Amino acid sequence: MEQWQKLLSNSVVKVEDLPFPLDTSEEYKEKLRKVAKVFPIRINSYFRDQIREQNDPMWKQVVPTSEELDDFLSEEELLESDPLNEEGDMPVPELVHRYPDRVLLMINNHCPIICRFCTRKRKIGIPGIVTRETLRQGIEYIRNHPEIRDVILSGGDPLLVPDKELDRILGELRSIPHLEILRIGTRVPGTLPQRITENLCSILKKYHPLYFNMHFNHPAEITPEVEKACNMLADIGIPLGSQTVLLEGVNDNSVVMRELMLKLLKMRVKPYYIYQADMTLGTDHFRTSVEKGLNIIKDLQGHISGMGVPYFVIDTPGGGGKVRLLPNMVLEHNEKELIIKNYEGKVFRYPQAVKKDPENGAESPVSKQTESAADVCQLSV
Ligand code: SF4
Repeated sequence: MEQWQKLLSNSVVKVEDLPFPLDTSEEYKEKLRKVAKVFPIRINSYFRDQIREQNDPMWKQVVPTSEELDDFLSEEELLESDPLNEEGDMPVPELVHRYPDRVLLMINNHCPIICRFCTRKRKIGIPGIVTRETLRQGIEYIRNHPEIRDVILSGGDPLLVPDKELDRILGELRSIPHLEILRIGTRVPGTLPQRITENLCSILKKYHPLYFNMHFNHPAEITPEVEKACNMLADIGIPLGSQTVLLEGVNDNSVVMRELMLKLLKMRVKPYYIYQADMTLGTDHFRTSVEKGLNIIKDLQGHISGMGVPYFVIDTPGGGGKVRLLPNMVLEHNEKELIIKNYEGKVFRYPQAVKKDPENGAESPVSKQTESAADVCQLSV
């Protein structure tokens, strides 16, 4: 057994084994057992060792609380087990075809940790969802749809699939002529970095162009082991990106986010998205206001390199796809000029381009200002 497999097999999966339980009363434990029946627990022993104390950001991401069942009592019924309507966009099981030229293919539904805020809480760790047959149908679907040029392998975590099987899946996908780009969506490098082995790297590097979309939420996740794993991936030429979920009490402030983005850049990982938390049943206690996310972007802009400023997005409820939100830096927009402010709040005027009539030299604005200021501006914070 490899080291990562041992760490995984030593996972905490029972309420009795949770690190630093907040409340050890039998009544509270019984509540958590009810939670765990609906949403399983997994904390691999590497990640378990990164938890320093109860309620710290690592603890909050993986230790269940009784609040997870509170949403079921909500009368508003705003929260859903499948808030992005992924199941509605599945032409075959476990393959989401939402955008014209790309698909998401779930190749397993197990993860190195089970995140309490996960959008796919309905599937993660539950046996029998992804099978050899669903995988076969997914690959067949891609083969029969020449408009698909990009596939993201997801789950669960694709990197928990054994080397040989992953090699087979990537090989099959690479044999499809119209498939240009392969992507792997994974939280493994930050939560079980020992999984990034020489053997895995020797498999992955056969399948370029191959991208990694990773997931990091807090700077404490970036340990020497994680740095080593990301360096190994970068050294075999895999472009590395990271997405972050904005989580109440975990990373909902600019200081934490700034530190995270800088640490990611140092590991050659490009911050890609900060997600506003989805409307997922059992996760409402993690949601923040949208303004919080906008303020974080405002605080990052100008204060760190643009490379380190991710897009802030809402994945629209019901399956409308991602929408990027920006803090409003446009004060006024008309035919003649834009009045904008910079990251320090200083105001600048940017004149619109003008066209000269070659006959008489008369100037007319290029912009007809058919869009309203609101089309140029985004949200005010
Ligand atoms: S690793 Fe990703 S897919 Fe797995 S539980 Fe966490 S957020 Fe969900």
